[in-house]
Amino acid sequence: MIASIMPNYKRFDLAFEHGEGLWLTGTNGRRYLDFGAGIAVSSLGHSHPALVEAITRQAGKLIHVSNLYQVPQAKALADLLVANSFADSVLFCNSGAEANEGLIKLIRRAQYKNGHPERTRIICFNNAFHGRTLATISATGNPAYLEGFGTPVDGFDHVPFNDIRAVQAAVTDQTAGILLEPVQGESGIRTADHAFLRALRALCDEKGLYLGIDEVQSGMGRTGTLFAFEQAGITPDVVSSAKGIGGGFPLGAVLAREALAQHLTPGTHGTTYGGNPLACAAGFAVVNEILAPGFLDHVRKTGEAFGIMLQKCVTDHPNIFEEARGVGLMRGLRCRIPAGDVLAAVMEEGLLAIGAGDNVLRLVPSLIATEADCQEACTRIGHAAHALDIK
Ligand SMILES: *Cc1c(COP(=O)(O)O)cnc(C)c1O
Repeated sequence: MIASIMPNYKRFDLAFEHGEGLWLTGTNGRRYLDFGAGIAVSSLGHSHPALVEAITRQAGKLIHVSNLYQVPQAKALADLLVANSFADSVLFCNSGAEANEGLIKLIRRAQYKNGHPERTRIICFNNAFHGRTLATISATGNPAYLEGFGTPVDGFDHVPFNDIRAVQAAVTDQTAGILLEPVQGESGIRTADHAFLRALRALCDEKGLYLGIDEVQSGMGRTGTLFAFEQAGITPDVVSSAKGIGGGFPLGAVLAREALAQHLTPGTHGTTYGGNPLACAAGFAVVNEILAPGFLDHVRKTGEAFGIMLQKCVTDHPNIFEEARGVGLMRGLRCRIPAGDVLAAVMEEGLLAIGAGDNVLRLVPSLIATEADCQEACTRIGHAAHALDIK
C-alpha cells in the first residue's frame, strides 16, 4: 500500500529534531553541519532569535486576514525592499514558482498594455530551473520535468546560456522578454558572465523587451549582494525572489519597475495567502538582518575565503573533484565520481550538502556561516574525499 505521503521525493532516511545556527540535531542524536540550509532557504541559520521573535510575536497577534484589507506588515517589507533595490513596487506570493508565474504574467501584461499583444514569448536558457508549476516547467524546459504532464505551456524559447548571439538570433516580433538565473543553481552553479548580463540589458533596451531575473536561489544576499545581478552593474525590469527571503517561512516576491507594476491593476492577479501578516513579519525580520550594516560584507568576505578553500579541496583531491564553482555562499564542487557518492560520504562525515545537475555537490550554507564553519566543512569534505579515494 502506498505511504500516506506521496512518493514524489527521494528522501534520505534522516529526520531532524532541532537546529541552532549552522547545526542540526538528528532524531538519531547525531549533529550535522548544515551546508544545504534547506536548499538555500535558511538564510539566517536555524532558530535565529530575530526570526523566532518576529514569528512568535506576529502569530500571537494576527496570522492572516487576506488581501481584502490593508496589511501593514506587507507594506513595511515592500517599503524596505523598494528602498534597497531597483524596484518601485513589490507583489508577494508563497513560493519561487509562484513568483516566476507572477514575473511571466507581468511581462506579458505590460507588453499587452503597451500595444504589443503579440509579444507573449519569453527567451529562457538551457539548464534553467524556474519551478514546478505548468508554466514554470515550460520555462525550465527540462524534458524530464515535462514528461507526462500534457501539452507544455507555450511561449518559452530556449537558447544556450552565456551565448549572446544565440539570444539575438532567437528574438522575434513575438518576443516579450528574457528570463534567466544570474547563477543557475539546480543545474550545477553556473554563473552568467557579467558581460553577458550587460549585453542582455542592451538587447532588451534596443528591442523593447523586458529583462526578468530569477533570483529565487541567488538573491537575498546569497552571493554577497542583495541580488546577484547587482554585481554586473545592470538594472533589470522584474525580479523573482523566494527561498532565502523568509528564512524558512514560505514567502515569495516579485519586484518590478513601475513601467510593469502599474499594469497589475485590481482583478488582474491575486493570491489568498500571498503577503499575509505572519509571512511578511518573518520576511521583514530576515531582510532587515541581511541589510544590517556589515552583513553583506560578511557574506562577501566569507564567500571569497570559502571559494579559496574549495579550490584547495580540488587541488588536494584531483581524483574526486574536477572544479570549484560559484560566488559568495553559493558554491559547488564538480565531481569526477558520481556526486551522489560524494554526498553520501560527506553526510557520513556529518556534513549536509545538496546534489545539483552537472554532477555537482552544492554548498549553500546559511549566510551567517563563518570562515571557521567553512573550514570545518572543507575538513569534512577532505575526510570524505580521502575515504572515497582509498576505496
Ligand atoms: C527553487 C527555485 C525555484 C522554485 O522555487 P519553489 O519555491 O520551489 O517553487 C525557482 N527558481 C529558482 C532559481 C530556484 O532555485
